[in-house]
Amino acid sequence: MTSIQPWDLPTHSAATAHLQHPSFQPFRLQNLINGQTTPSPSPTLESINPQTGQVFAHIPNSTAEEVSQAVTAAETAFKSWSTTPATQRSQYLQRIADGIEAQRELFAVWESIDQGKTLARARIEIDRAISNFRYFATFILHEETAARWTETNILTYEHRSPKGVFALISPWNLPLYLLSWKIAPCLAFGCAAVAKPSELTSLSAYLLGKIAQDANLPPGVLNVVYGAGNPTGSALVRHPRVKGVSFTGGTVTGRQIRRDTAGDIGKHLSLELGGKNPTIVFDDVDVEKAVATAAAAAFENQGEICLCGSRIYIQKTLWEKFVPRFIAYVQEKYTLGETVGAVISLPHYRKIRSYISLAAQDPATVFHLGSVPDETPQDGYWIAPTILTVAEDSVLMKDEIFGPVVTLSPFETEDEVVRRANDSEYGLAAILLTRDGARMRRVGEQLQAGLVWVNCWLVRELGTPFGGMKASGIGREGGEYSRGVFTGVRTVHVPAF
Ligand code: NAD
Repeated sequence: MTSIQPWDLPTHSAATAHLQHPSFQPFRLQNLINGQTTPSPSPTLESINPQTGQVFAHIPNSTAEEVSQAVTAAETAFKSWSTTPATQRSQYLQRIADGIEAQRELFAVWESIDQGKTLARARIEIDRAISNFRYFATFILHEETAARWTETNILTYEHRSPKGVFALISPWNLPLYLLSWKIAPCLAFGCAAVAKPSELTSLSAYLLGKIAQDANLPPGVLNVVYGAGNPTGSALVRHPRVKGVSFTGGTVTGRQIRRDTAGDIGKHLSLELGGKNPTIVFDDVDVEKAVATAAAAAFENQGEICLCGSRIYIQKTLWEKFVPRFIAYVQEKYTLGETVGAVISLPHYRKIRSYISLAAQDPATVFHLGSVPDETPQDGYWIAPTILTVAEDSVLMKDEIFGPVVTLSPFETEDEVVRRANDSEYGLAAILLTRDGARMRRVGEQLQAGLVWVNCWLVRELGTPFGGMKASGIGREGGEYSRGVFTGVRTVHVPAF
């Protein structure tokens, strides 16, 4: 039983039968260092299936020494990887994409078990991870550079080279998708990676390590170390031979990483952090379409997407029509266990519950849907979609709850809603629902958000800049912007011979 690995269980029925078997022993994950799975001497952490509460894997809580071994392996591999022609690097990335695609269901099944998300949602994210590899595999085949001549006929051109070893750190909400959004450009642009997935969701990184080995990726180009923020993540970002950090996670952690790396001016920092995104619904919308978009933005992946719209502002003249339809639609479409998964962990369950419970204690709160969840959850961490109207100064309007909880608030004028939407420390995304073309630009261009979606949500073209304003992060990633993260640019000046 112990020798069975997750990749031996590629279907949902096989995986669940295995997990439910009386003699089931949790999987033991091992770091991937220099192309080899490497046993760790450090104590392990438990990985829990949020849908059942079962411990199903033990992961190493890697020490600074193990992190250093991975950095050394990456540094050694960087020497030849950085000079490997782009056409060859592209082929490796395509082979990794092929490997994931061939095992799409396996990845989706384990991503769902590991994160609590529905299988349908997991499949979408695995497809997006494949696209990340394919996008950057082809992007590097068509790179351009700028060249100019001075008045005295001196040719000046921009020349880029990969920066070196990168720390790639990801959160638990979209495990493979977000990790591949970092690994694919890192490798494509010629850098070597030490990746650290969230300690709560390590399994798809483990499967990806196997795919990279099967694709014969040169040893050390991609290393994966598992563990908590402290010691593992912290040792990784502070490592003196790590040239850059691409991090996605919470704003509190982002601030810590900034402090921890402040002394190393040359270390690149790319931080994709939290959000408290507004959805703005004007009274000219097609109600059915607006309801569907606002509901998806609120409850997809049980609200555990940094881009979710959790503050919904509805123009007062539409309130009576929109609100009952929105509630009915959510009741009909977002069903616990079918289209809504379990939240990631017991601490996160308690955090979400504490916000709902706080709202329940305020007489100003209206519960449109949902109630305070049980204090002690039974059989997994399930929280039903919850729709509230709370006081404007409530912490529920300010804090990122990161669960299936949204607020509904009325507004009257355009200026008012822009001011209220922007009244947040965050600035990641905003959703604008209107049929008025002039308003799309007038309002859209005033919203303090790195991403503004008009009458849509979560659509992405991978060359566009991705990132947030204010406390939602620094830097942008995607296409050319990722090239800026992973390569350094010099301007070369060459006179005529
Ligand atoms: P988190 O900040 O707790 O953890 C993220 C990662 O950082 C994990 O791998 C963790 O182990 C690691 N980490 C923790 N402390 C560290 C340290 N001191 N040094 C280095 N690494 C450290 O975030 P989370 O709870 O995993 O994820 C949820 C958060 O991520 C939410 O705030 C969400 O909005 C945000 N998020 C942002 C985006 C985006 O693109 N802006 C995308 C997804 C999630």
